[in-house]
Amino acid sequence: MLYLVPTPIGNLEDITLRALRVLKEVSLVLAEDTRTSKRLLDHYEIKTPLRAFHAHNEHHVVERLADELASGANMALISDAGTPGISDPGFLLVRACVRRGVRVECLPGATAFVPALVASGLPSDTFHFEGFLPHKKGRQTRLKFLSALPHTFILYESPYRLLKCLEELSVHCGPERQACVARELSKLHEEVRSGSISELIAYFGAKEVKGEIVVVVGGTD
Ligand code: SAM
Repeated sequence: MLYLVPTPIGNLEDITLRALRVLKEVSLVLAEDTRTSKRLLDHYEIKTPLRAFHAHNEHHVVERLADELASGANMALISDAGTPGISDPGFLLVRACVRRGVRVECLPGATAFVPALVASGLPSDTFHFEGFLPHKKGRQTRLKFLSALPHTFILYESPYRLLKCLEELSVHCGPERQACVARELSKLHEEVRSGSISELIAYFGAKEVKGEIVVVVGGTD
């Protein structure tokens, strides 16, 4: 059995009772960064052994791990923050498990895009999750595609590229399109700022941008 266990995106209280129980009961926790996850497990006094599972080794270890799971091991996969498989490793292992008939359970829990979308005030009935845009090749093609969507879309972005991203969105979507920047969700300096793209450029252009960021953009409708 493979469990995908969401971990907090900032506030350590954002972990479920079930997530804590599963992390205690499995024989192994697969973690993106074992040092980061060791701190998390120590905080909750969980002593389950950790093994590295990240973007750099995932292709090599996926088949072996899926074999171990198929022969009866119970493991949990966690990422540094939020839900594994959402802009984080997870998909390849889940696919290998599904192909072998290994049971996979993803626990409901923390992820950055849902609170950003819901707090943005932009329509949340239909939406497109894009995650990180490519830095160079293919970036403009994705922006062109996104700008034509009738519904809300969601990007993950680094604080260093936020302004560049908003300026590109202004070119593709127009400066009047409504958007929202959700920063440091669930943390001390949480900020959810909504407005037109041009208003957001003026606001974030006037200060040093820090922290983790989700950008939510309204659709053409
Ligand atoms: N697996 C995670 C999830 O379920 O949301 C996403 C991991 S991805 C590597 C990290 C990105 O998620 C950050 O660069 C940022 O865009 C977004 N993010 C994570 N934590 C956040 C937070 N507390 N506030 C705003 N955005 C956050």
